[in-house]
Amino acid sequence: MASSDTIFGRILRGEIPCDQVHADDRCLAFRDVAPQAPVHILIIPREPLENLLDAEPGHAELLGHLLLVAARVARQEGLEGFRTVINSGAEAGQTVFHLHVHVIGGRPLAWPPG
Ligand code: 5GP
Repeated sequence: MASSDTIFGRILRGEIPCDQVHADDRCLAFRDVAPQAPVHILIIPREPLENLLDAEPGHAELLGHLLLVAARVARQEGLEGFRTVINSGAEAGQTVFHLHVHVIGGRPLAWPPG
């Protein structure tokens, strides 16, 4: 499935609603519909990459931007610590095949993850 056809592609096109916390010309950030912590935000690029395995050297600036937005929304949420997660591939637990950065915080987080 092309990643523009995923549920996140539909959110980007405004076809289904989201609880938006940040938007700019390269990405959108919104609250996860099934939060795993008091703060659980997803940051997605407008460009429909499936996951990190799709990324090429030309995406370096975009990938850096997504991480800077992660820090920005974490600050916005008042988090003193937070975790960023990018699941790439079904084996890693990816369920939506449009690249996304999870920002998770607001409770103590165990390590290692499952
Ligand atoms: P993944 O498992 O692919 O890394 O993460 C996908 C995330 O997207 C999950 O945490 C899931 O709860 C979230 N999600 C799936 N569908 C929707 C939706 O329609 N809206 C929002 N806001 N989050 C979604």
